[in-house]
Amino acid sequence: MNKREFIKKSSLAIGIGYVTQMMSCKMKTPSLSGSQNQRKEPFVLANLPYKYDALEPHIDMMTMITHHTKHHAGYVTKLNEAIKETKFEFSSIETICQSVTDSDHAAIRNNGGGHFNHSHFWESMSPQGKPIQNQKFLDTIQTNFGGFDQMKTEFMNSAKSLFGSGWTWLCLNTDKKLFICNTPNQDNPLMSNLVKKPGIPLLGIDIWEHAYYLKYQNKRVDYIESFFKVVDWNKVEERFLKNV
Ligand code: MN
Repeated sequence: MNKREFIKKSSLAIGIGYVTQMMSCKMKTPSLSGSQNQRKEPFVLANLPYKYDALEPHIDMMTMITHHTKHHAGYVTKLNEAIKETKFEFSSIETICQSVTDSDHAAIRNNGGGHFNHSHFWESMSPQGKPIQNQKFLDTIQTNFGGFDQMKTEFMNSAKSLFGSGWTWLCLNTDKKLFICNTPNQDNPLMSNLVKKPGIPLLGIDIWEHAYYLKYQNKRVDYIESFFKVVDWNKVEERFLKNV
């Protein structure tokens, strides 16, 4: 390589380096405003807030291990791949769910929902469960359903009626009313562009067979009953109070 070629190649390399640097700077600028939407690192699988056997005998250890380390982990990995170099690369998981549309790649919808739903699900449970303590939440349940038992029955019936894989939710709508709905696959009520009845998810139950088949086989009702024994209503009412 003569001197001229060397200078030419070097400046080209510097040029490429500069462009790459500029591109990475540009790509680090979040497309959505608001600091809560800014994320610098890829999504990670958080540890459970309790041990894998902590929900026994209601939810068994083997199901918890597989569900968290295989299923949820898979959604996180695939979500990070799916959002790379898209407008969602640095968005919060809530923003992804709230903004995703039919025209976005299905992997963003499915794995974004998968990550949000499972994180929400783990946090909604605790060993032995925790009772509702907030009067305003109790009063709202009373007003909207006629009582806790009526709300539970409606939730159970909704979960029983879900065909195939999906989730059943207790939600809060924009009129601050509670309602129950089902979403298919890994959709959730935050996905206002995709679901019939959008809302803030307060409590969700995973009705995919991977969530219960090992212990309960086809006995979905037993699984839902057991879930109610480990619901952390403190967490649910905390979500309610943040949004009313
Ligand atoms: Mn699941």
